[in-house]
Amino acid sequence: MTSTTEQHLSARVVGSEVHALEAQHIVQTYRRAPVVFVRGEGVRLYDSEGKEYLDLLSGIGVAAVGHGNPRLADALAEQARTLAHTSNLYFHPLQGQVAARLAALSGLPRAFFCNSGTEAVEACLKFARRYWYTAGTPRHEIVALEQGFAGRTLGSLSVTWDPHYRAPFEPLVPGVTFVPAGDEQALRAAVTKQTAAIIAEPIQGEGGVRPLSSAFAAVITDVCTQTGALLIADEVQCGLGRTGQPFYFQVLGLRPDLVSVGKALGGGMPVGAALLSERVASAVSYGDHGTTYGGNLLACRAALVVLDALTGTASTTSPATLPNGGLLAHIQHLAPLVEARLREIATRHPMVVDVRGAGLIWGVELDRDAAPIVEAALARGLLINRTAERVVRLLPSYIITEGEIDLALARLDAALAEGQH
Ligand SMILES: *Cc1c(COP(=O)(O)O)cnc(C)c1O
Repeated sequence: MTSTTEQHLSARVVGSEVHALEAQHIVQTYRRAPVVFVRGEGVRLYDSEGKEYLDLLSGIGVAAVGHGNPRLADALAEQARTLAHTSNLYFHPLQGQVAARLAALSGLPRAFFCNSGTEAVEACLKFARRYWYTAGTPRHEIVALEQGFAGRTLGSLSVTWDPHYRAPFEPLVPGVTFVPAGDEQALRAAVTKQTAAIIAEPIQGEGGVRPLSSAFAAVITDVCTQTGALLIADEVQCGLGRTGQPFYFQVLGLRPDLVSVGKALGGGMPVGAALLSERVASAVSYGDHGTTYGGNLLACRAALVVLDALTGTASTTSPATLPNGGLLAHIQHLAPLVEARLREIATRHPMVVDVRGAGLIWGVELDRDAAPIVEAALARGLLINRTAERVVRLLPSYIITEGEIDLALARLDAALAEGQH
């Protein structure tokens, strides 16, 4: 073992040294919580002092099969020893398998693999333009939703609503119009025969966990039919089982031409994908888009473990680490319990003004800034996060148990009680 490896594996991590190194060498784009995590197991995380936390955020909706999952770890170790990366210049055995599983879950037959959510959105935006270019009637305009979030690269930032994220980087990609989610008139006015695509998160995540209504979804479908505009469903946060269904666009009855996925897909390995209908895919040619890493063997191996666990088709090698019968069924079972417990907690805290969500994505909206609650929760060994200022967001791992939910929500209850003063 080299000394560097020994250093990395050393159990003794000193928080103050980590802070000092970052303060000197890391671009300060994040205001991190003052905690250094060194180990995880299931829904539990351990910091450099050995303190245990219950994680209701799972790395912002990423650790779908939990931290330190043995099945995922074994698969990745085996794949790393066998072959990790070859680039997209050659075939490998796994990319088609992941794409076939995603097709079965989504109904969209083709996939383009990338490394993150924002790249998945970029791919969707490019493929939407390519569709209209190939059709001989180029369109570039995009209609997006207020409160929407699609990522931080220039293209996806252009369809992200928050002015704080946008202003320092303007001018962005032209031709984007924002309409309020749920506003039928505004949508009908904004979408025309110049509109290449509408982009929408079926549940707005960063925007405060706001599910679109089925009624508004029906208007989206109608407007797309009237104008020919394509629909991009950004399922990076709410997709891949998060709600107990494979995708939330299915719950809303939407029929997207393009779907972006990321976050949970790799269970912690960086992998994203754009899923395409056949009519959009057939407009795409060799060389139109590409990536060095996207969909390499390591990423695809991770995605296969997650997708197998979702549908319960996993081999039975380590039954203790994943619930039997598939995580989709497990989440469907848990959802009403989580909702009932959150609503019960809400009745005891007047500062809670709304509880929204589905499956294992929940927002608890407060009448005030949620930051002190998040801080109080951290002190009590609970990880949650604040989004859209006043919303406490929960995105637990799909493998969380009823007992762990009770324990974690009791800590949330206590944090809310503390914040009341
Ligand atoms: C997180 C998120 C993204 C961006 O994903 P990254 O992996 O951070 O680039 C895009 N869209 C939605 C809906 C997201 O929640």
